[in-house]
Amino acid sequence: MAKYVKEHPWKIIEEGFHPEENRLYESFMSIGNGHMGHRGNFEEDYSGVTLQGSYVAGVYYPDKTRVGWWKNGYPEYFAKVLNATNIIGIQVFIDGKPVDLALYPPKNFKRVLDMKEACLHRSFELEIDGKNFAFEVKRFMSYVDIESGAISYSVTALDDKAEITFIPYLDGDVRNEDANYDEVFWDRGKEMINDNHGLVSMTTRKTGFFVASAMTSTLSLDGQTLSAPKENFAKDKFVSQQFKTNMQVGQTATLNKYITVASSRDHEASAVEAHALITLDHISNKGFDQLYKENADKWAEMWAEGDIVIEGDVAAQQGIRFNIFHLKCTYSGDDPRLNIGPKGFTGEKYGGSTYWDTEAYCLPFYLSTSHEQVAKNLLIYRYEQLDKAIDNAALLGLKGALYPMVTMNGEECHNEWEITFEEIHRNGAIAYAIFNYIRYTGDQDYLVEYGLDVLLNIARFWADRVHYVPHRDKYMMHGVTGPNEYDNNVNNNWYTNRIAAWCLEYALEALAYVKGASPEKALAVQGKYGFEASEFEKWVDIQEKMFYPYVEDLGIFEQSDGYMDKEQILVKDLDPVHLPLNQNWSWDRILRSCFIKQADVLQGLFFLSDQYDLDVKKRNFDFYEPRTVHESSLSPCVYSIIAGEIGYHDKAYELYVRTARLDLDNYNNDTDDGLHITSMAGTWMAIQYGFGGFSVSDGKPMFNPFIPENWDSYTFKMLFRERPLHIQVDKDHIEIRLVSGDPIQVGVYNKVYDLATDTALHIPLDHTRKI
Ligand code: BGC
Repeated sequence: MAKYVKEHPWKIIEEGFHPEENRLYESFMSIGNGHMGHRGNFEEDYSGVTLQGSYVAGVYYPDKTRVGWWKNGYPEYFAKVLNATNIIGIQVFIDGKPVDLALYPPKNFKRVLDMKEACLHRSFELEIDGKNFAFEVKRFMSYVDIESGAISYSVTALDDKAEITFIPYLDGDVRNEDANYDEVFWDRGKEMINDNHGLVSMTTRKTGFFVASAMTSTLSLDGQTLSAPKENFAKDKFVSQQFKTNMQVGQTATLNKYITVASSRDHEASAVEAHALITLDHISNKGFDQLYKENADKWAEMWAEGDIVIEGDVAAQQGIRFNIFHLKCTYSGDDPRLNIGPKGFTGEKYGGSTYWDTEAYCLPFYLSTSHEQVAKNLLIYRYEQLDKAIDNAALLGLKGALYPMVTMNGEECHNEWEITFEEIHRNGAIAYAIFNYIRYTGDQDYLVEYGLDVLLNIARFWADRVHYVPHRDKYMMHGVTGPNEYDNNVNNNWYTNRIAAWCLEYALEALAYVKGASPEKALAVQGKYGFEASEFEKWVDIQEKMFYPYVEDLGIFEQSDGYMDKEQILVKDLDPVHLPLNQNWSWDRILRSCFIKQADVLQGLFFLSDQYDLDVKKRNFDFYEPRTVHESSLSPCVYSIIAGEIGYHDKAYELYVRTARLDLDNYNNDTDDGLHITSMAGTWMAIQYGFGGFSVSDGKPMFNPFIPENWDSYTFKMLFRERPLHIQVDKDHIEIRLVSGDPIQVGVYNKVYDLATDTALHIPLDHTRKI
């Protein structure tokens, strides 16, 4: 039973106002269109607890780093996703009294995110000075006119006449809650207001992004547009326009506000303001209803391509749609300069836009639910930043390329030494994403065009970062932090050593491929970075002699040297008052404990799945899962996928629910700061890879499906090599339909079948795999 929101297949519903949880609901109800977005704040003034947040993709501020002790190699700044001009604001007064839900507690309050049509609704009633009023508010950001959004704000006089005043405004006097020095990040540009429209433009300090926001509004009474006189007002970074009318009993006054945001990321700085106004004209001419419809139609298309339908479990259905919805709000994939911030447009925390999350978790979602170019753009983003990754490695005294842990523009902006310098496994995910993309799409040309440069430089980094231990005849890697951030500065983290060796192997394979496909390109890349044959020979040696910690008597990989010497306690034996550990224990106590934040050894078994048999996976899962607290949102999905594969179907389902409803049920008690966007893609993988048992083998999509006991069926859609496949699994069968495109071969339970266009394959489910 959901704790915060009503269960519904398409909606996120807050019923009754919860001022004490307002920040949480604001996070749930965030909306965006890949270009910009904002939290589910109220349009009218609210003097209660709120985190006001509007964000523009790619517009950031390099906030000066704040640390106690400076370490060589620390980045100068931590990039902040910027709180930008408040574009949604509309002050509302009734008979001169300000509408503020902290002052007048609402009745019949409902805040609803309609995920199908991508619209945020609010309805409530207020009693003000003995008179009652009904409110209806709708707001959306357009996925069609991507620099735009619209609001329709209606008030009905229920039992008495009243004067209503709407003051739509643009307010650039905003701050970031997490600013390091409480600084203002925006310099004033221009304010402009006349009877037709208003505009506020500002420039970000240091980065110089020029952003203009514009608005225009119309007032109507019972559907009749009024041309009432307006009062225009402007001050620093602020413009507003006042609309007033009288309502008789039963009459409804509606203010429609149209908003646009344009920035120098997309236009010449000198053309930004004009562009915001031209777009404003364009959208306001369409009108609210047409804009709404076009946006809803666009979302209908996206849902048709990437929806997951679950029959028999509304909570699970709501969870997965919530995840898909927010992933699409965050990244639309048409701009290779953009990436997927862990909080998207739902909060400020985490700064930066890009973590290894993109490659390790998000890429598969976009690969399957969008056209190839979208996933390719994610890879090109890293290709474009290769030079900075080479500089970053050099800063640490190393050769090759070390991609940053957190970045906006390719520069590292994370500054905890144990993560910045040591959580270097992130390089592996970037190489793995290239492999994953090519395995899925078959686009080998990517290696020639972009991939080889990145892979060789990543491999060079690993080769420099390991050291040879003669008395063991092994290569080792000391002083690292694996994906499990609850253990730092360890030696020989199994996952890091494994992914490093894999990178070396894959880089050499890529080189061999490019030498065959385009010898001149292979030579050019080697020449550009000065690679010699002897360097490649060394890579083979490292790969063959990499050291992997192993626990003989248990037959498991040891997470890192010494892990087994820690005091071994299981999570189930901990008093739940200690959880989450990161909010209750000192860092020192966490580091000494055996508790694991997120998939580490299991991350390797997931990535390199076809290299390990089920027994190996089962032994490692049995050992590590009971010690894992899943305090990273990225954790439960990987465990869920492996649980499904080894036949622990109930466990797979339990972990799926945890990942799917992580934010909706506020599992980690931090959703008030924003949603965990990148882990949402993990949820999606938990269905496709976990329940559907999806993998790619020899260029073919393969499925090993099962169905959770309480589900009647589930259906997921995927584009594979530009062919739409619909996969439905019910209690007894899997059905795979090739909707269009050339015939394809697909595998079910390791047997390969031919599938013609617009035909379906029905195969009985194998129920014997369940343990
Ligand atoms: C996780 C990292 C992740 C980051 C951003 C951290 O809590 O441990 O693996 O990259 O969050 O999602």
